[in-house]
Amino acid sequence: MRIFESIDQVNFEKNDGLIPAVIQDAQTRNVLMLGYMDKAALAQTLETKRVTFFSRSKQRLWVKGETSKNYLNLVSLHLDCDDDSLLVKVNPEGPTCHKGDDTCWAEVNENPSAFLDYLGEVIKRRKSDSPEESYTASLFAKGINKVAQKVGEEAVELVIEAKDNDADLFKNEAADLLFHYLMLLEIKDFSLNDIIQVLKERHK
Ligand code: AMP
Ligand code: ZN
Ligand code: ZN
Ligand code: ZN
Repeated sequence: MRIFESIDQVNFEKNDGLIPAVIQDAQTRNVLMLGYMDKAALAQTLETKRVTFFSRSKQRLWVKGETSKNYLNLVSLHLDCDDDSLLVKVNPEGPTCHKGDDTCWAEVNENPSAFLDYLGEVIKRRKSDSPEESYTASLFAKGINKVAQKVGEEAVELVIEAKDNDADLFKNEAADLLFHYLMLLEIKDFSLNDIIQVLKERHK
């Protein structure tokens, strides 16, 4: 994906000084809304880190969230292939659509597998940064055998809860197993995607 470097890269001229800006949630990767930016709106977005559009109905700069407080906090900007539209990755504060929906296409802004990817990145950072107060970092410090043993223990705990009928305990052990499974992949220098590739290969 191309990195946005400067406002001068953008071709505003094609469309009366306005370019479409596709707004995407940086974490869930859902498309939240579509708006238009002129040069001033893009400059203000870069400066304030809050997405600002040029409103065609209001005919003025419009900070998304200016009345609702549902701001779109800028994460990154990406130009398309011919520099005349933007992909804007954001962290939204609250629902994006003024009708109250999470997205302007009335979708629920969730993506469980994207959260797993994010959790995998956090686990990777705990391995490299090893902050003192972190459980994850301290387990990594004990080495591969300890992490693998922990996966075995959590698997046994899950099996035990599977025989019982306490939904909360079962879900918690399932979460423990998944978390430690991700840690085991990380300490073996694999990503979840490496394993998904194996599953995909088998699925053919
Ligand atoms: P807000 O920017 O969220 O404070 O909303 C102010 C006004 O901007 C709303 O009353 C709508 O007219 C318009 N608006 C807000 N969000 C959207 C959106 N996602 N798409 C189109 N118009 C919007
Ligand atoms: Zn284009
Ligand atoms: Zn909307
Ligand atoms: Zn457990």
